[in-house]
Amino acid sequence: MILDREQPEQVEIDITFTGLKGRGGLALSRVIIKNCTGYDPDEIKRHLDAGMELIGGWERFVSPGMQVLLKVNLIGPKRPETAAVTHPEFVRALTRILKEQGCTVWIGDSSGGSIAGIAPTAQSLVVSGLARVAKEEGAVIKNFDKEGVVEVTPASGRVSRMYLARPMFDADFVINLPKLKTHSAGIYTGAVKNLFGCIPGLRKAEYYRLAPDPKDLGQTIADIHQAVKVGLHIMDGITAMQGEGPTAGDVYHAGKILISTDPLALDTVAAAMLGMEVDDIPILVSARERQLGESDLAKIEVAGDFDAPILLPDFKLPKRFRSSRKSNHAVLVKLIDFLKTRPRIKRKLCKDCNMCVESCPVQAIDRESKRIDYASCIECMCCHELCLHNAVELKRDNLIADIFTRLYRGTYR
Ligand code: SF4
Ligand code: SF4
Repeated sequence: MILDREQPEQVEIDITFTGLKGRGGLALSRVIIKNCTGYDPDEIKRHLDAGMELIGGWERFVSPGMQVLLKVNLIGPKRPETAAVTHPEFVRALTRILKEQGCTVWIGDSSGGSIAGIAPTAQSLVVSGLARVAKEEGAVIKNFDKEGVVEVTPASGRVSRMYLARPMFDADFVINLPKLKTHSAGIYTGAVKNLFGCIPGLRKAEYYRLAPDPKDLGQTIADIHQAVKVGLHIMDGITAMQGEGPTAGDVYHAGKILISTDPLALDTVAAAMLGMEVDDIPILVSARERQLGESDLAKIEVAGDFDAPILLPDFKLPKRFRSSRKSNHAVLVKLIDFLKTRPRIKRKLCKDCNMCVESCPVQAIDRESKRIDYASCIECMCCHELCLHNAVELKRDNLIADIFTRLYRGTYR
């Protein structure tokens, strides 16, 4: 059974996972881009309020007495300056807005990985600053690992049942707050991918094992979107992560906030800002197949401070990125595929916390030596994603291939 949660009566527009539909005369897929220079909550609040006016204003989505869940990106115990997590001041600004609207605010997520057999969500809430902001602003923390689950039957049928964090169903309204980031395995992570955190605790590794290909993982993520019904997606792109995201990349000051009711439209616009297309990003290809929203830029109305996606200059994409636009170089692409990057643990940086060992879905990392068994490795990049000490690097074994690929990127991007 797929849970079909009723939208609250107070909400006048019909909100589905594909965006705003009909009533209100608004575009089906509209993405608002606002410029925002930093994390001053007053400035963020001003831009959010102005941006929301362009899709009908806050009162079209929330009303007094509602319990509103802010589904943040809390990938791990990372400080906000790293651009790995939704910034706490961004969450503060939203909390203030929603409290002004008379709502109760919940802040929730589940982190990836495992330390000593336990998901690090509680630690992440403290390190990220979200626990402090929640306390200061009177919001309620919902640690998805401790709030219970709701059983759903995934529409894809890839698995017979799936367990998702209960607050996603208990809230009257859910706002998804992704971070603008690259992803070493999936190329990009944004609004669509952010709902993967609805799978509590250590179960995430099991889904990685079942779906080693990012496109297959995309089907699982599409199942989550179709089960939970999020009403609004607001991306924290004030600082973004470039290079080898989603945790080990570098900070890029993008200065952008993106707002949409359509997660795929938002990601399509965000990807265009990074110089990519939906076809370059396997999870978004799956989202398009599953009709999670609009992925044709020509059919997405961009408004706010721009009327089209703007290219962020000198933004570094992950090593694995190879544009689908290079199809006329298929042989070269195949060669690069053959000599692709693999994770390798730098012993000098390793602190022996064993997060990678315990998070590896196929137990490919030796606990003592930290050597990776590449015959077992499914290249999910969880070890790279979750290591808090940047000790897992992505290396090409073949130096010539490395140089070749760099030249290739430089020539054809
Ligand atoms: S590589 Fe990173 S995650 Fe793995 S044990 Fe070392 S420090 Fe921990
Ligand atoms: S070694 Fe790393 S990339 Fe390979 S399967 Fe394990 S976690 Fe994934």
